[in-house]
Amino acid sequence: KPGATAEANRQDPKDTIFAKIVAGQIPCKKVYEDDLCLVFDDIAPCAPVHCLIIPKKPIGGVSDLDGEEHKKILGHMMVTIPKVAEIKGIDGYRLVINEGVHGCQSVRWLHIHIIGGKQLSWPPG
Ligand code: 5GP
Repeated sequence: KPGATAEANRQDPKDTIFAKIVAGQIPCKKVYEDDLCLVFDDIAPCAPVHCLIIPKKPIGGVSDLDGEEHKKILGHMMVTIPKVAEIKGIDGYRLVINEGVHGCQSVRWLHIHIIGGKQLSWPPG
């Protein structure tokens, strides 16, 4: 997958495109925002609804998770997801986290894909 390189995964999250989105330096189609997280439409959607929920604090990925603050942030992101589903008017959906090179992560700022708006298949193709 383009972008999911070792170089991309060595990036400091503060140097990624999502850092610029959080800072308001580049635009996004914002779906929801609060003090801990931001949700916006993916620029290359793979389904009728494809949002990304990201923490506002820089966390590179799942392998960087540690400690109470991260538990609070990730728990908050999870309980925010049904709100996003309501905003988007979707019923069922799929959550995806790509981690590291083998997981095809291309932006080293933790994000959960929220994918829906159509009947998805399983296992994924
Ligand atoms: P990953 O491959 O790391 O799991 O997911 C990164 C996602 O970010 C991809 O689905 C990609 O389309 C999306 N993306 C990359 N750059 C941008 C951008 O500048 N704006 C938005 N909205 N999405 C982006």
